[in-house]
Amino acid sequence: MEQDVWERKYHLALERMERDEREFRAVEELLRRLSLRLAALVRPAGGDIEALLERLTSELRGTPSPASIEPLLEALAEAVTRMDEALPPDAGVDAATVEALRADIARLQDLLAMVSARLGDMTRYLAAELEEARTEEGGSRELDARVREEMRALGERTLAAGDLASLQAEVSQRLSLIDRHFRDYRDREDARLAAYRDRAERMRDRVEELESQASTLQDSLRREHELALTDGLTGLPNRLAYERRMVEVEREVREGAMACVGAFDIDHFKSINDTYGHAAGDAVLRIVGQTLARELDGRAFVARYGGEEFVAVFHRTSPADAETLAQGLCATVERLAFHASSKPVTVTMSGGITRFEAHERAADAFDRADRALYAAKREGRNRCVRL
Ligand code: GH3
Ligand code: MG
Ligand code: MG
Repeated sequence: MEQDVWERKYHLALERMERDEREFRAVEELLRRLSLRLAALVRPAGGDIEALLERLTSELRGTPSPASIEPLLEALAEAVTRMDEALPPDAGVDAATVEALRADIARLQDLLAMVSARLGDMTRYLAAELEEARTEEGGSRELDARVREEMRALGERTLAAGDLASLQAEVSQRLSLIDRHFRDYRDREDARLAAYRDRAERMRDRVEELESQASTLQDSLRREHELALTDGLTGLPNRLAYERRMVEVEREVREGAMACVGAFDIDHFKSINDTYGHAAGDAVLRIVGQTLARELDGRAFVARYGGEEFVAVFHRTSPADAETLAQGLCATVERLAFHASSKPVTVTMSGGITRFEAHERAADAFDRADRALYAAKREGRNRCVRL
């Protein structure tokens, strides 16, 4: 990514340098023509001027720059002044011609200074723009075409210009046009950039909004997922959560882990409901469920299987240890101090324990635990049976 940006910047810089070079070449061409015309004009004067003109011409043949041409033009102006002072009025070149030449050279110097200042401005603008790397390809191509067109027109008009004054006017006008193209381009670029920033800002706001919506949605999904696996009355995992857990336990058992399943059911719960009311029955379910979860915390996974039945999955626990734990649970439930109309009410629970065998399905182990539970009921309740 970074690499791409720099490669693009590098190519843009190369293009810009080439374009600047072309622009300067066009000015140079203009100066070359001017120097030839000037040379033709002053030839009869000879001496210093001719030598300076030759240097100017040869400089223009090489790789001239405003800095190398300017001193020559200055020397030329001085030479013309000297010639004016040295020659008597009848020495071949009349004072009016010398004066006109000096004025021409001065104007040429001004022109050169203006051209190099304008080119300098444009180059600085391009450099600043390049630094921000915000050039839109299409826009810069259009600008390039316009500048080329103005420079071409400049070259043609230069050839056609009859005198230095109209030439200067032409150059000045063309440079103004080029300048305007630059300004238009810059305005368009600024507007484009502002619109782009605006869009980026709106986009960022929208993304933030979507992110917050997504996280709210994720939270509510997580809550719904938890709710779907939780029993509303006791807060214990529900039957669905138990079945999911059993998928994992089944795999662990197949891989050699020891596990036991315990089924628990409150004794004569129907009569609790019938005697003390459904709300009292609910309270009993809540307290018994929470007692199971607390007593087995860290030793077993406990869920409300349905109605007044609970199920426990004992991990890495032998059947004998699971049976001891289950008996302890029944004893704890029996000791719970329930009261109804200020009278103590004893609640008991029965349990069936079995080992989860490696070759069987979770449902088979549960069925056996349930059969053990009913054996405990048959044997008088408030006890545990292991099958
Ligand atoms: P046993 O000792 O043989 O288990 O007898 P039991 O009365 O406990 O068993 P039975 O299956 O006859 O009755 C269970 C009762 O549990 C019936 C049903 O109305 C009640 N019950 C089931 N779910 C709830 C519940 O969420 N809240 C309340 N209050 N009662 C419930
Ligand atoms: Mg019951
Ligand atoms: Mg029951």
